[in-house]
Amino acid sequence: MDDIFKHLGECLEEQLQQWPAAREAFSNLEQVQTRILSSSGLALQHNPARIKSTTAKIKPAEVASRSCFLCEDCRPKEQRSIELDDKFYLLVNPYPILREHFCVVSREHRPQAFKDCYQEMMDIASRLEPGYMIFYNGPRSGASAPDHLHMQIGRSEGIPLVEKLINNEPPQKDEPVTIQPFGFPIIVIKGSDPAKLWDFISGMAIYDGECEPRMNVLAFNRDGQVITAIIPRGKHRPDCYYSEGPDKVMVSPGAVDMFGLVITPRKEDFETLTEKQVLDIYRQVTQQQPRIRVGIIADREIRFCLNESYTDGRNFFEGEMKISANGGKLNWNGILIDSLTLKPTEHGSTFTLHDVTIGIGFHWERKEEQTFSGQLKFIVEDGLVRAINILPVEDYLTSVISSEMKPTATKEFLKAHAVISRSWVLAQLRSPYHKADAATPVTNDHILNRIIKWYDHDQHTLFDVCADDHCQRYQGRTRIISAAAETAVKETFGQTLTFDGHLCDARFSKCCGGITEQFETCWQDEHKPYLVALRDSSINEGALPDLCIEENAREWILQEPKSFCNSADGNILSESLNGYDLETPDYYRWTVEYTTAQVSDIFRRKSGLDIGDIVDMRPIKRGPSGRIYELDIEGTKQTVTIGKELEIRRTLSESHLFSSAFVVEKTPEGFTLKGAGWGHGVGLCQIGAAVMASKGYTYREILQHYYPGTTLGRFY
Ligand SMILES: [Zn+2]
Ligand SMILES: [Zn+2]
Ligand SMILES: [Zn+2]
Repeated sequence: MDDIFKHLGECLEEQLQQWPAAREAFSNLEQVQTRILSSSGLALQHNPARIKSTTAKIKPAEVASRSCFLCEDCRPKEQRSIELDDKFYLLVNPYPILREHFCVVSREHRPQAFKDCYQEMMDIASRLEPGYMIFYNGPRSGASAPDHLHMQIGRSEGIPLVEKLINNEPPQKDEPVTIQPFGFPIIVIKGSDPAKLWDFISGMAIYDGECEPRMNVLAFNRDGQVITAIIPRGKHRPDCYYSEGPDKVMVSPGAVDMFGLVITPRKEDFETLTEKQVLDIYRQVTQQQPRIRVGIIADREIRFCLNESYTDGRNFFEGEMKISANGGKLNWNGILIDSLTLKPTEHGSTFTLHDVTIGIGFHWERKEEQTFSGQLKFIVEDGLVRAINILPVEDYLTSVISSEMKPTATKEFLKAHAVISRSWVLAQLRSPYHKADAATPVTNDHILNRIIKWYDHDQHTLFDVCADDHCQRYQGRTRIISAAAETAVKETFGQTLTFDGHLCDARFSKCCGGITEQFETCWQDEHKPYLVALRDSSINEGALPDLCIEENAREWILQEPKSFCNSADGNILSESLNGYDLETPDYYRWTVEYTTAQVSDIFRRKSGLDIGDIVDMRPIKRGPSGRIYELDIEGTKQTVTIGKELEIRRTLSESHLFSSAFVVEKTPEGFTLKGAGWGHGVGLCQIGAAVMASKGYTYREILQHYYPGTTLGRFY
């Protein structure tokens, strides 16, 4: 038979002659109005007849309860079907939005799934005449019949994305290329090789409980070469679709809408919708928040409970389980494997890990049972089983904010924290891509008597972040997720801090001690213009003393200057930070006393160096907040220099000194360390920020205060 795709126009004509309803629909289409919205080509189509598909019920139960309008016995009797191959029919679409609008419909009633039609899509695309396109709506991304496998074919004139892809040079490279003509990423692939297309699709993230990535896919033939565009999707419908009253916009984006031609069945939407609103709708339905891998615990054996049904892809599991390390393998129910990923079969399912240690190495270290949502993965790490929780970033953040902050904390404080936690975590996710060209930072000046070490987060290689204070304290859903934390994360969805267009490394610590520290005092010698020393108070409370000078540092640390974080108001603290943080209320100025024997013993054990009895400690270099980053320790056997700030805190305390901003006083028995602040002091000071929020500062103002020169932007 002659190639049907050479005669689509005639084929439509024939059908319309026998089918009055469809004829009317296509002639109505001649009357639809189009309004160009922007120079980027975005356009609206006013198409009242589409109200039916725009308001189509898409919940699985609703779909199951209606009869399938793509199945042969329910189709209108006039609708002719043309056999394409043994799997698909070609049908005229009786609700057209495109001139010559067809459906490619599976003969069999089976769910919409790209794996079952991508080969046909590539084949048809390569046979299409110029001016036609074929496209696919994922079951959660605009398909009005998610229960019956289908694609659509239509004329492509007036489709902004196709016009762009035709007018611009096609990608030169053979790899997929990402373009953003309408503010969201579109991946363009050249050529009709189905394997290449499938290879890309297989790498896209799939939401829990779903079968394929959310997406719309377009393909057409450009001068003998197939061009395919993939649009990764988030949710199907924007919030304004569900609004009532004047805020309502009835737009339910499927493929054609995402290609730049937005279908508006209601006249009022067609007349009033602005480019800005359309871009906002696009942003909402393309949100692709990344997933994060959080390393929870590592042990010889991990006992856990799957509170609901989970699957490893073959079998289903529920209830109490255990897994252990055996050589370089995992022992899972007697079978040795390399790794195991358990995915929840339904959204919202949880699992519980027994005996999770929190606060490792700190004074509040303890064990507890912890519950998590998302996926549970086990790998072998240094001969132990490592449990990893994989979940969407925004869910992770909600838990982090809940873990670190009390629900009674001021909203603006929680929002500020949500933004910096997000910025920080997204920077961790991106770091693997930059690792290759980054100068390896973590080690360390280790010559003779100098031990200068710093510790950074990118030492995790098998997961993105750990669950402890080393990264951000994460306890899954162990504690009640507070509504306040949830709101703070929602109201700042996708918002991050950028500097000069780059994601900020938004560090934070408990209490700066009155002046924040600069980045290079604590980590590698790299100046970050937004992580600098500043007075943690409103401007009129005095200039910045130079605490790099020993006398100034001594004077500063021994007094209690007025600062945001010098709060006599115990309420703000108990309302903001979770309980165990208050086991140590003397964070702003603190004192530690040691006998010579004590401190010598601690240092010997913690540093692994035997320098004899310590006879003196001399600060050599201080950062602008007074934090020491090189300290000479003189022993009866030898003198060593240690740094940076965390190494000093670690080797001079059973747990950790609150900070390295301290002065050393010799006493008849030994030493007294008098210090300021808690933590490294770089970036946001949590206690200062909580106080600022309680004084009425907004989260934007708080962020501007601690990260000067940064911009609050949107990452997804
Ligand atoms: Zn069907
Ligand atoms: Zn970590
Ligand atoms: Zn502070």
